Amino acid sequence: MNFVDLHCHSTASDGTLPPEDVVRLAKANHLTGLSLTDHDTIAGIAVASAEAAKLGIDFLPGIEISATFPHPGTLHILGYGIDPHSPVLHDLTRGLIDARDNRNPQIIAKLNELGVTISMRELELQAAGGVMGRPHIAAILLRKGYVSSIKLAFDKYLGQGGLAYFDKERLAPQRAFDLIRQSGGLAVLAHPFQLRTQNDGELDRVVKDLVDLGLAGIEVIHSDHDAAWIEKCSRLADRYNLLKTGGSDFHGSNKKDINLGIANGKKIPREWMDRLLDRLQTAPGLPGKIVKV
Ligand SMILES: [Zn+2]
Ligand SMILES: [Zn+2]
Repeated sequence: MNFVDLHCHSTASDGTLPPEDVVRLAKANHLTGLSLTDHDTIAGIAVASAEAAKLGIDFLPGIEISATFPHPGTLHILGYGIDPHSPVLHDLTRGLIDARDNRNPQIIAKLNELGVTISMRELELQAAGGVMGRPHIAAILLRKGYVSSIKLAFDKYLGQGGLAYFDKERLAPQRAFDLIRQSGGLAVLAHPFQLRTQNDGELDRVVKDLVDLGLAGIEVIHSDHDAAWIEKCSRLADRYNLLKTGGSDFHGSNKKDINLGIANGKKIPREWMDRLLDRLQTAPGLPGKIVKV
């Protein structure tokens, strides 16, 4: 059998493995295709794509964009087949990274106020040139003994409702879709489970609204999805003629129980990546920047 992973993160966002190591792990795990989908950045794409070409893995450039959505849900849009040289995407990722960079000093100042000794310099060292964010702050809090686990760092300080929580910059869904389209990609709804909709009717309405904005696919297999959610998302894909995608949402040791290529015990069929590649190549006006070896 032939399997892929279409959703994972590297040190370019909040993963713990550098992009090239994520690709090497994909090879070690016998995957034949991979898409790297770092949060709000395409900084890892060039390195990952070069490594994939070397190892003979088909690579699809990706990104995961956080969009606004009513609390307590989370709306993440995956962009597949985006052109990594697209100027609109560079502007977007620069803007979002600037916003995140502005948030870090706020979090650090609040933590200092709460008696936690931590500095921006420590954060820079921890991030080692990657996009600085809360996972790095959590790692510092753990190392310095302020918390006994990464999870506690988020529960007590950094997560929603925590003592040093600041919400991040999010794009309106329409804007996220426009940017993905303008950079030649296809928009896919990530992990619908995390929308935290109240019932199937509400889920259906949300998906329909996104279809009206140009949604091309829906993530069916994901580490948060049990059999019932896979079934639900499959049905939505059929109803709205959406591509099915899947991925582990691997983050390295930031989410220790997730291995690349395996999402809650399920593997992602190669066929799903091929359909995505076909759609990218046939969609009118799309440059089809697929690195296929
Ligand atoms: Zn996500
Ligand atoms: Zn993700």
